[in-house]
Amino acid sequence: MNINVKYFVAGLLALGALPAQAASCETGNFAGWLDGVRQEAASAGVSRGAISSGLKGITYDKRVISRDRAQGVFSQSFLTFSDKLVSKNRRQHGANRLKKHASTFKQIEKQYGVPGPVLVAFWGLETDFGAFQGDFQTIRSLATLAYDCRRPELFRPQLIAALQIIDRGDLSASEMVGAWAGEIGQLQFLPGDYIESAVDFDGDGRRDLRTSAPDALASAANVIAKHGWQRGGLWLEEVRVPGEMDWAQADLAIQHSRSQWAQWGVRTADGGKLKADNTPTSLLLPMGRKGPAFLAHPNFRIYLEWNESLVYTITAGYFATRLAGAPPVRRGNAPDTLSGGQTKELQNLLKRQGFDVGKVDGIVGAKTRAAVKEMQIKYGLPADSYPTADLLSRLRRG
Ligand code: CA
Repeated sequence: MNINVKYFVAGLLALGALPAQAASCETGNFAGWLDGVRQEAASAGVSRGAISSGLKGITYDKRVISRDRAQGVFSQSFLTFSDKLVSKNRRQHGANRLKKHASTFKQIEKQYGVPGPVLVAFWGLETDFGAFQGDFQTIRSLATLAYDCRRPELFRPQLIAALQIIDRGDLSASEMVGAWAGEIGQLQFLPGDYIESAVDFDGDGRRDLRTSAPDALASAANVIAKHGWQRGGLWLEEVRVPGEMDWAQADLAIQHSRSQWAQWGVRTADGGKLKADNTPTSLLLPMGRKGPAFLAHPNFRIYLEWNESLVYTITAGYFATRLAGAPPVRRGNAPDTLSGGQTKELQNLLKRQGFDVGKVDGIVGAKTRAAVKEMQIKYGLPADSYPTADLLSRLRRG
């Protein structure tokens, strides 16, 4: 969880931004390379026993390299994605978990300031509340990724940290099972974060993020608190926007006080008066000015540490608001979201206009949104940063 590096790397692997052929960049033999890892772990203070049990029989795993993490979902619209991920069934399960672990959540909030619904939403999205944690051998995955030439500097320290987890007695070598890229447990921690931030919250002396829900949830709260979560603060607040306003202000990079938004005609989701205070917030219109609208509060920043995708982060924040009692989002009347193919075409056309849109990947990230906004301003269209078929056809005409 929470690791921008995790999604960054997984995303790059999935998107083919990194070399597809592992074979071309393997250096030396794997067994010899492992000897070097053993030495490094020993000098990092890992015991001989932990090193030998952790690395025993480890082989290179081609499945890890070729694993295609399906990130195509991020070309889906916010409503399509959140309908799928924040299903009635998952909300019900989430509500049950909140009830079942009520006293744990109370203690966690007291200690870390992070409310239960925020944790339960991540828990549900990451592993369906612990049900799907992955069945890859963590150390084998990490050794493979660290041996491969693409990102050894990211994965080698994770491999050493995984051995430290064994050494510390938190998990045994055979318990080190999780996602293909080395994330472990109910909230999918990379080993480095496990070592740094895992806590023993059920008091049995082990930091067990796989089978102990209290340990996993409190550890997630610990990470979120370290990112600067403000106790008692909101994270995402659904709002209603007026028919006309300066849409260019609706941008994750722009913040205004709630009283400023109120002056511009932004209201609460049910049409009431927005609380006019000085909280700095950003207006988010994931599907443009006619779709759902949210104010991102300062705590929303930690969602962006978790994942760069606006659709994913708004979905995670929205799920948490539903668990905290918010009504279903107003769906509005947004024009269709462009398909992945159309988005690639849009990105190529924007590139031709001189914009840096990053990789042409069919995913509307921050750079593509910024370029869309500039073109909307140039064409005299409402500059809500949401790419539509209309914008695409204007760009085609040049
Ligand atoms: Ca424990």
